[in-house]
Amino acid sequence: MSTLSITGGQVLTPDGTIKRADVLIDQDEGTILAVDTDLAGDETLDASDSLVTPGFTNGHCHVAMTLLRGYADDKPLEAWLREDIWPAEAELTAGAVRAGTELGVAEMIRSGVTAFADMYFFVPTIAEVVAEVGLRARLGHGVISVAKDDDAAREDAREGLAVAEEIQGMGNGRIESAFMPHSLTTVDGKYLEEFVPQARDLGVPIHYHANETEAEVDPIVDDHGVRPLAYAAENGMLEPEDFIAHGVHLDEREIALLSEAGTSVIHCPASNMKLASGMAPIQQLRAAGVTVGLGTDGAASNNDLSILDEARDAAMLGKLAADDASAVPADAVLEMLTTAGADAIGLPGSSLEVGSVADLAVIDLEAPHLRPHHDLVSHLVYAAAAADVRHTICDGQVLMRDRTLQTLEEAAVLERAEREATALLSRVE
Ligand SMILES: [Zn+2]
Repeated sequence: MSTLSITGGQVLTPDGTIKRADVLIDQDEGTILAVDTDLAGDETLDASDSLVTPGFTNGHCHVAMTLLRGYADDKPLEAWLREDIWPAEAELTAGAVRAGTELGVAEMIRSGVTAFADMYFFVPTIAEVVAEVGLRARLGHGVISVAKDDDAAREDAREGLAVAEEIQGMGNGRIESAFMPHSLTTVDGKYLEEFVPQARDLGVPIHYHANETEAEVDPIVDDHGVRPLAYAAENGMLEPEDFIAHGVHLDEREIALLSEAGTSVIHCPASNMKLASGMAPIQQLRAAGVTVGLGTDGAASNNDLSILDEARDAAMLGKLAADDASAVPADAVLEMLTTAGADAIGLPGSSLEVGSVADLAVIDLEAPHLRPHHDLVSHLVYAAAAADVRHTICDGQVLMRDRTLQTLEEAAVLERAEREATALLSRVE
């Protein structure tokens, strides 16, 4: 057995309190052996003046969209997708997706993310990168039927199922899959009716964008006579293992539907603000018992993949949406960043206790913006930034040590991303 000890730091315990302790990890099993004083391992990570926390979950992303960061900004969702994003994505290659994924996972590891959910294209390539770098992920192919003939639409849905089957369990079991219809308006109902039951047969969850903008709600009401989540339920897409992205425009009945079904919501506050989609009712969702995680969405609508920025945005926007400064408090956001986020996407969440998976982030508390140390949970949610993350550990392996990535050659990743992004845009008319 090889062991890793994280020493000299403060530890965020499962009950939310903070204590001085070391952490001992079994690297073969990827689990925590002890949280105590004076622990020594074969290898040591120094955590002095630092806070050891569970790793963070990014519950909704399109990781290779990092190549389109800054390519098109300041437009509403529909126009942005149709005029800029979809034409560029039509020119993607496996090489471009690999380069974009490497860039995205480098950025996520730098922000303390240890698990993420991703909807994109060339998913086996994404899975290969995730397996190589050592993160956990739930990945799926984004199925779209609009602007396709029947054969092409069916082929796309079949690819969604085939990919879900192919990648399940890759990366020593760290990678799981899902069936991912892009949204309730971009996939025609007849395909949902046909393919969602097939996904259930595979035993994978369903993940999709829902109730992101009002423009996405109205056509469903017009065509089907019910609001989107009632329509989703009719199509068998509201099960406890399923999770939707956004959930901005929800009425009380839809919040109750989510609560009764046990379906989770991934809140993407930065994307919702940037695309002026609206303010998700996070306080009401949590009060109704809905599991809420945080997501960055793609880098083209954010424009970064720092989940700590998302935490701060979720607290701020949650208060504004509820018109109540006590809404969406720091401890609620911490839960969204960690346990609730992992639960929402159905991956193991870490906690600082014996037997837990060893997915951890170590936050440097030395910077001026993190002084004085009145309340470290407050600092994590309201003041910390990705640059404060010092070490990232997933499944017991060190993915970043003292801000240096261990499983990616960062300079080469940056160079490939620049090259592939330039080549991609040169292919767009
Ligand atoms: Zn999205």
